[in-house]
Amino acid sequence: MQERLHKYMARCGVASRRKSEEIIFSGMVKVNGETIKSIISIDPDKDIVEVNGKVIRPEEKKVYIMLNKPTGVITTVRDQFDRKTVLDIVKVDERIFPVGRLDYDTSGLLILTNDGDVAYKMTHPSREIDKVYIAEVAGIPDESEMDRFRKGLKIEDYITSPAKIRIIKKKTKSSVIEVIIHEGRNRQVRKMCEAIGHPVIKLKRVRIGKLTLKDLKPGKWRYLTDEEINYLK
Ligand code: URA
Repeated sequence: MQERLHKYMARCGVASRRKSEEIIFSGMVKVNGETIKSIISIDPDKDIVEVNGKVIRPEEKKVYIMLNKPTGVITTVRDQFDRKTVLDIVKVDERIFPVGRLDYDTSGLLILTNDGDVAYKMTHPSREIDKVYIAEVAGIPDESEMDRFRKGLKIEDYITSPAKIRIIKKKTKSSVIEVIIHEGRNRQVRKMCEAIGHPVIKLKRVRIGKLTLKDLKPGKWRYLTDEEINYLK
């Protein structure tokens, strides 16, 4: 669909339509590399518009999505080995990206958005947002092992912040535990459980701050409610 150049510029947030006309007349606008000094029609999907040497694009509406990531899917926008990514599940027009990550083998709550400010806030350590995981681990951790977890333990070259841990269910050879951390280092829960001698068998994230999966099934996603979005902002 064709669109008048000054209208497109306004939609990209360059300036008002009127002001955009002036900018065009002043010779600061190029379409597909060619300087344009009159109001032409363009194809916003194909033509490349530059203002002062910078390519402009329409401002996207901000979207906020909760996915219950299944295992066997990677948390990136693209994969060099062509494995299934979270964007093969969540297909929307906006250019979204995952906030933080869950391992290939981890399932559960993942937020995707195109709002960089919200992503930054969610992952900033100073905000100390709880991330709640349910893990099945080998064996049954005893009190002294769980205390190491609660005090903070050494993983590779860093000491983890105090975390919460409790046993939900004891099985014969394994147990189901709840772990709450507010850091987000690579494979942190797995490494912490390993460090106390109880490697993870299964791992799922069920909550981030006030956001919970509730009855969202693995592989399904939904838009966040206004209340949830306001909480993240
Ligand atoms: N901690 C982990 O070990 N893995 C995850 O996917 C998330 C947190």
